[in-house]
Amino acid sequence: MARAPRPLIAGNWKMNGRRAAGLREARKLATRMRNQKQRRCDVLLCPPATLLAPMREALRGSRIALGGQDCHAAASGAHTGDIAAELLADTGCGYVIVGHSERRADHGERSRQVRAKAEAAHRAGLRAIICVGETAAERRRGRALEVVGEQLRHSLPKGCTAASTVIAYEPVWAIGTGLTATPDDVAEVHGFIRDRLRRRFKAEGAGMRILYGGSVKPGNAAELMAVADVDGALVGGASLTAADFWPIVKTCL
Ligand code: PEP
Repeated sequence: MARAPRPLIAGNWKMNGRRAAGLREARKLATRMRNQKQRRCDVLLCPPATLLAPMREALRGSRIALGGQDCHAAASGAHTGDIAAELLADTGCGYVIVGHSERRADHGERSRQVRAKAEAAHRAGLRAIICVGETAAERRRGRALEVVGEQLRHSLPKGCTAASTVIAYEPVWAIGTGLTATPDDVAEVHGFIRDRLRRRFKAEGAGMRILYGGSVKPGNAAELMAVADVDGALVGGASLTAADFWPIVKTCL
């Protein structure tokens, strides 16, 4: 039987994190990780771009990885305000989130663009965390699996491997709302995603991590992490302080 993927707990700070308070929280997490003997999962922080370089220093020696929240498809050039995957790698990032529903909604990003960004991440040697998830209306109409299936089909580049690619299932209606999908709903969608990944990427698809995201909190993390084919979490609001994020990390450590 194939070995279960090593879990990943990822924090997405979005457009939050002033320098002093943000670095204080990052240092607290780094200290807790350094003091931790057993590390059975990977931990990642994706702060705003303004904090990437100082956070790299704050996390040094902790084995907490650093990631970007988005990247441009091009390696360089005249793209004011954007960040190339190569620049993220140059700053010490190991991961980048692409296709987050807030980027899809706020910037009109389509799955084909998401795929180009994931290709850019791979080109730069970054792991791409590719987000998929249905809206409340799509779920009400019974279209959740269809929507997630289409997003997977068009957002994932050829040649994705277990090492290069992480999928995050984030039902849009659960992000930042305090609502979470039930364990049964999560199991259904994660099982569906695993099946699609296996069909397309064979053994690599079986080993790819599938994260759940959407109002993961210290109080519900253990239950969600126990669901089949949930290989970690993508956490927004509850990743902003060590007091909230650490208990979530601990469910997998
Ligand atoms: C997210 O930003 O990806 C997210 C899941 O946010 P929250 O945990 O706040 O719902």
